Amino acid sequence: MAMTPHWAYWFVPLVAAVASRLARSDEQRTLAVWLASLDRRVWGSLAEGRDVGTLPWVDARIDEQKAFLQEIVDAGRSRVCWDLFMAPGDEEDFRPLLRPLGTLGQLVAQFSPQHACRDEAIVWGYNGGRAPATFERCHKHPVYLHANGCLWCNDGDLSECYEQVVVQRD
Ligand SMILES: [Zn+2]
Repeated sequence: MAMTPHWAYWFVPLVAAVASRLARSDEQRTLAVWLASLDRRVWGSLAEGRDVGTLPWVDARIDEQKAFLQEIVDAGRSRVCWDLFMAPGDEEDFRPLLRPLGTLGQLVAQFSPQHACRDEAIVWGYNGGRAPATFERCHKHPVYLHANGCLWCNDGDLSECYEQVVVQRD
């Protein structure tokens, strides 16, 4: 079994949290839900940009969607939401997160609509095969729920780390 470095484990949870914080419209909330719905097994491939084509692209809105994704990348690189899982002083340990954030930004910028996946069952494969109809946030964590609940609640390690950081901060 391949070992996932500690920082890599946080890539998708971070991006989902930043997207949830920044989303101002249902279109942007839809992207936040998509990010929050990603299964842990695909996190690495998103970090490498392999799954950019299966983002819920809408042809007529692709420039706006790209701009929002870029906003998420920039906020993530400015360490927005890092305090959700990182105790003060641990910044150096998570610095490698800047790299996949940069990669995601580049791939989104270069993405061309002809590579967008048109199959909703694949695009929303981790959300029960469907785009969300409503938007609700977890009452414990600052992320939008997906069809199978909360990304952070469902993963005991994320939830536990979040609780530790919150306790430490208080
Ligand atoms: Zn939760």
